[in-house]
Amino acid sequence: MGRCSTTLRQHSVRSIGAVVAALACALGCATSSQNAVTTSGTNASAAAAGVPNLYDTQSQIEQYIASGRYDEDLAKQVAGARAWLEERSKTATKPAIVLDVDETSLSNWPAYRLNGWARLPNGPCDLQQGPCGLREWQAMGRSQAIAPTLGLARRARELSVAVFFITGRPPNLREATERNLKEQGYEWTAVILLPPGVTFASAVDFKAAERRKLTEQGYTIILSMGDQQSDLTGGFAEKTFKLPNPVYFLP
Ligand SMILES: [Mg+2]
Repeated sequence: MGRCSTTLRQHSVRSIGAVVAALACALGCATSSQNAVTTSGTNASAAAAGVPNLYDTQSQIEQYIASGRYDEDLAKQVAGARAWLEERSKTATKPAIVLDVDETSLSNWPAYRLNGWARLPNGPCDLQQGPCGLREWQAMGRSQAIAPTLGLARRARELSVAVFFITGRPPNLREATERNLKEQGYEWTAVILLPPGVTFASAVDFKAAERRKLTEQGYTIILSMGDQQSDLTGGFAEKTFKLPNPVYFLP
């Protein structure tokens, strides 16, 4: 780890390579940034220890997304949600759908790609060289709509089904989030962000409670869709649809 620390100090962490090196070191590498990500011997020893190799994992993520398989897997899930929307909206009282925002309605892959697919919440976002702090990226409002989800949301509106976004984004991102969603074509009944000054051990504690409030207002939440299991657990939705996320996990 001593060599890693030295290597990190020598970097200004201005490139994907430097971020990769930082992550490799965080996982306990004992080699320089150059050979930590390229030497087959390093991969072999990591595999022998039962530890996923960071470089291999990054490559698999890149291939999964770039190949279109991620889009296919996501579209299948949204198609299931859409079929249920078509069916259940005919009979439900005051029907509603609940959508997560990040990696469900909007994609942040450009920011994650800049970071070697690492989740870096804080710090500035340098769109030319990286790294890109996630909160600063979200504040820019440049995330792209996830097309199948946008289609689902638009269809819900056509069917007079209420659309609610429930997101763990902090409250200071309300304006940027709503602007981004609107510019990408979304319309909604309400956008619910994390309340100010509150933290939750799990997104379940926040999101399930917000769904409960909607049901208490008389809504029938016919479906809830998110990329994290914690978007969906906790009830107050007739069906849940889990989208793929090969990059990060939120409790
Ligand atoms: Mg999400």
